[in-house]
Amino acid sequence: MDVRFLGGAREVGRSAILVNGSLLLDYGTLTGNPPQFPVETPEPEAVVASHGHLDHVGAIPSLLSGDRRPPIHWTPPTRELALTLARDTLRLHGGTYDCPFTEEEVRRVTQVSETHGYGESFEAAGHEVTLFDAGHIPGSAHVLVDDGDTRLLYTADFHTDDQRLVSASTARPDADAVICESTYSDVEHEARAAIERRFAESLRATVWEGGTVVVPAFAIGRTQEILLVCEANDIDCYVDGMGKGVTEMLRRHPEFVRDADALRRAKSNARFVDGRDGQRKRIADQNTVIVTTSGMLSGGPAMTYVPAIRANPTNKIALTGYQVEGTPGRDLLERGRAEIDGRVMPISARVEWYDFSAHADREGLLKLLSEYRDVPVFVNHGDRCEAFAAELNGEGYRASAPAVGETVEI
Ligand SMILES: [Zn+2]
Repeated sequence: MDVRFLGGAREVGRSAILVNGSLLLDYGTLTGNPPQFPVETPEPEAVVASHGHLDHVGAIPSLLSGDRRPPIHWTPPTRELALTLARDTLRLHGGTYDCPFTEEEVRRVTQVSETHGYGESFEAAGHEVTLFDAGHIPGSAHVLVDDGDTRLLYTADFHTDDQRLVSASTARPDADAVICESTYSDVEHEARAAIERRFAESLRATVWEGGTVVVPAFAIGRTQEILLVCEANDIDCYVDGMGKGVTEMLRRHPEFVRDADALRRAKSNARFVDGRDGQRKRIADQNTVIVTTSGMLSGGPAMTYVPAIRANPTNKIALTGYQVEGTPGRDLLERGRAEIDGRVMPISARVEWYDFSAHADREGLLKLLSEYRDVPVFVNHGDRCEAFAAELNGEGYRASAPAVGETVEI
């Protein structure tokens, strides 16, 4: 088997791995200004997508240009999320370099899509492929590829601890080689229950003091996780942005969430904002909690809420995810100010950060890899892939960290 890394190697973003020159695993975007896409332009016979995040599916429609029509294999939620993201990219950037595909190509995605549940093997470009629950977001998968000689496990993004929205990854299929993500290879997450307790107490305290809390959250996974946390802790909230539609979509795929009943309760506990007639400004004046996109304050209704609440120190902004360098969220954390809609604003409201990560930490990565001690491990999807590979080798693994553009033979 030969495996070519077209993106997401020694970096986070634009994940793309070509197996035997014919089967493409993921085809994502590295967000930034300008965004980056996988190197080369593969013409795969088939595509398998691990999960519906931009860095794994963001550029998929561009594989359907001209008369190319490779089938795209994924779980039902991944299909829906990829289409949601593609339409959003079209709406924001259609016709520019930042959007590498057309409306017509997005339409074609629905024609070539083939959905599969976990554990159901299927054929793709002459390979036998099986998806296993990766515990990252609803529909996320570890991808097992068998070309008849070699079995490759591509972990993609995964979590080894339960979250409220999805259960932990437990599948450890036999494999002859593993490509493993390493996003948090030097991080130890605090126990989720403790984070949740602090988060809930903080939100409640601000509301009691008469303040407003804005909770920036990624639309996919994080918004729903926070709504579940709010419901479980009896915290009333509003929800706004792209996370609303994603929440509704997930209600249609109950088999891909940990507790469909809890999600139903979380959805009815949250008031959905439609944004009409200055509704957002009125909500921002209330003594309440607002869960909204974008998670890093780079767009979405947060652009209305943050300026509205920023001047009052009783108010609070509770960030719920990793803040990429150069984003307004990162700026806010480090400097207490943020550039919103082109204007730098000082923020007097209190700012807090909570680690609601959907990725395995170092211990979780090692927990999964301990099942694959005797096979080659290729570390990807991280800022310190080479360092982590070296650490694994020190523990007796056979690990390496291929670069973008590199091909490995297994
Ligand atoms: Zn992801």
